[in-house]
Amino acid sequence: MATSNNFLRELVNKLGQECVSVDSLEKLVYAHDLAALPKSVKLLFNTTPDAIARPRSIEHVAEIIRLANEYKIPVIARGGATWGFGGTVPVRGGIILDLTGLNRVVNLDEKNGLLTVECGVVWEDIMRFLQETNWELPTYPSSALSSTVGGWAATGGIGYGSLKYGPFVKNVAKVTAVLPDGRVVVADDNSNPNLSQLFGSEGILCIFADLTLKLIPKSEVERPFMANFSNFANAVMAAQEVLRLTNPHSLVLRTFGFVRAKDYIESDTYFFGCFNGNRYDVDRQHLTLGSIVNRYRGYLTPEDEARREWEERFYTLRIKKWGPSILGNEFIIPVHKILDIVKYCWHLGNQAHLDVEVEVMFISRDKALMFQLFLCDERKSIRYLTEAAITKKVLDAAIKAGGKPYGYGLWNFPFMERAEPEKKRELKSMKGVLDPQNVLNPGKTIGAELMLGIPLPGKLYSTFMDGVWVLRKVV
Ligand SMILES: Cc1cc2nc3c(=O)[nH]c(=O)nc-3n(C[C@H](O)[C@H](O)[C@H](O)COP(=O)(O)OP(=O)(O)OC[C@H]3O[C@@H](n4cnc5c(N)ncnc54)[C@H](O)[C@@H]3O)c2cc1C
Repeated sequence: MATSNNFLRELVNKLGQECVSVDSLEKLVYAHDLAALPKSVKLLFNTTPDAIARPRSIEHVAEIIRLANEYKIPVIARGGATWGFGGTVPVRGGIILDLTGLNRVVNLDEKNGLLTVECGVVWEDIMRFLQETNWELPTYPSSALSSTVGGWAATGGIGYGSLKYGPFVKNVAKVTAVLPDGRVVVADDNSNPNLSQLFGSEGILCIFADLTLKLIPKSEVERPFMANFSNFANAVMAAQEVLRLTNPHSLVLRTFGFVRAKDYIESDTYFFGCFNGNRYDVDRQHLTLGSIVNRYRGYLTPEDEARREWEERFYTLRIKKWGPSILGNEFIIPVHKILDIVKYCWHLGNQAHLDVEVEVMFISRDKALMFQLFLCDERKSIRYLTEAAITKKVLDAAIKAGGKPYGYGLWNFPFMERAEPEKKRELKSMKGVLDPQNVLNPGKTIGAELMLGIPLPGKLYSTFMDGVWVLRKVV
C-alpha cells in the first residue's frame, strides 16, 4: 500500500530505523495477547500489524500519533500484553505502539511520597525500587511480574490492596497523556479530561505516557493469613464477616482447581490475604479473624503456609498446566451474588464437561472481582470455538445479577450497552471529540470492526455466540 509505505518511511525518518520493525516474525508475535484465539475468529479480523513502533520518549509517542492521524493509520498501544480481552490485538492492521521501552523511574519525591514513572515500567521493578525507601505501593495487580503501569491505568486498576486503599485511579496524583491528535497534556482530578474519564479507556482515548503515583508509608508489619473451609458457602459467609469486622489489605477466595493445584492444601475452598499496619492493630485483627473462621467451621493454617500463599499471589496462571488452555473472564458482582454465580459456573462446566476454576478478589464490603475460568484445549479447534461461548453465558448471568464485565476490549464489547450504557455514551462522545479520525485502537470497547473497517453489530456477535453454544451439543 502506497500510503503505508510513505507512512513507514516518515516514521523511520522521525524515530530512527532501530525504533521501527516490519519483521514478519515479530509481527506474528504482536498479533495476539495472552488469550488463545479460536482459529476461525482470526478470519474476521486482520490481527497482524503493519509495523511495530518502539518509542523512546513522550515526544516519540506524540510524533507517531500525529503522523498516524495524517495517514489515518490505526495505532494500538501495547504494554505487557497480559490483558486477555484483545485490547492490544489489531482488527485492521496498523501500528503497534510497544511502550515497554518507556521504562524509567523518573523521580521519587521522598517528602511527599510521590513516584513518577514512565508508562512501560513493570510493577515488579517499582516494588524492587521501593525496597530501599520508606514507601510502598498501596495497590498493584496480581500480574505485577509482567504488566505495565500504563496498561493498568488503561484497564481496570483493581488489584491487591484495592480493598483497603481503593482502585488505582484513587492512588494517582497526575498523568502525562498523549491525546489522539498528538497533543501532550497533564491530567489530574480537576483537568478536562480528568483522571476518572481517562482511566479504564482501554487505549481508545489517550496514551498514558507517565504517571505520578501516590505511595503509602511502609507498614510496620505485614501479616498474611490463610483459612481452609470444607464448604464454599461457609467460606463466603466468613469472608463477608471478615470484611465487616476487620480491615484487611487484601482478601481473596479460591476454590476448585486452584485448591487442587496446591499439594499442601486439604480443603475444597480457601481464602487468603494480609493485614498490614502497626503490630498491635494487626494482631488484634488477626484474633478477630481466628474467631470468625472457627465460627464458620474453617481453620487457620500455620503462619508459614499463609506466608507461602501470600508470596505465591502473583502466580495465578500456574493453573494453566491443568488445561493446557483456559477460557476466562472477569467481572464485578455484588458480594451477595457470589454463591449464585459460582453455582451457575459449576452447572455450565458440567454441561460442557469442563473443569471450573474461580477466584474472587473482594474490593469492598459489597463488591467483588470474580475471575472465572474453564480448563480446555485450544488444539481441538472446533470444540474450542464452541466452548468459548461459555464465557458469554457467564457474563450474561453476571450482568443479570447486577454485575458488569471487568473490561471490554474486543471480546466483551457487546456487553457494554447492557452493563454500562452511560459509560458507553460518555466514551463514545469523548471519542468523537478527541479522536474524530478513529486512530487510537479502533474497533474496541465501544464497538467492534471487522477487517476493512466494517462494523460488527454487537447483537450479531451475541446471537452467533449463543448459536455456537447450542452447536456444542452436536460437536
Ligand atoms: C496472571 C494475571 C493476573 C492478573 N491480575 C490482574 C489484577 O489483579 N487486576 C487487574 O486489573 N488485571 C489483572 N490482570 C489483567 C492484566 O494483567 C492487567 O489489566 C494489566 O494491568 C494490563 O497491563 P499490560 O501492560 O499487560 O497491558 P496490555 O495488555 O499491554 O494492554 C491492555 C490494554 O491497555 C492499553 N494500553 C496499554 N498500555 C497503555 C498505555 N500506556 N496507554 C494507553 N493504553 C494502554 C492497550 O491498548 C490494551 O487495550 C491479570 C492478568 C494475568 C495474566
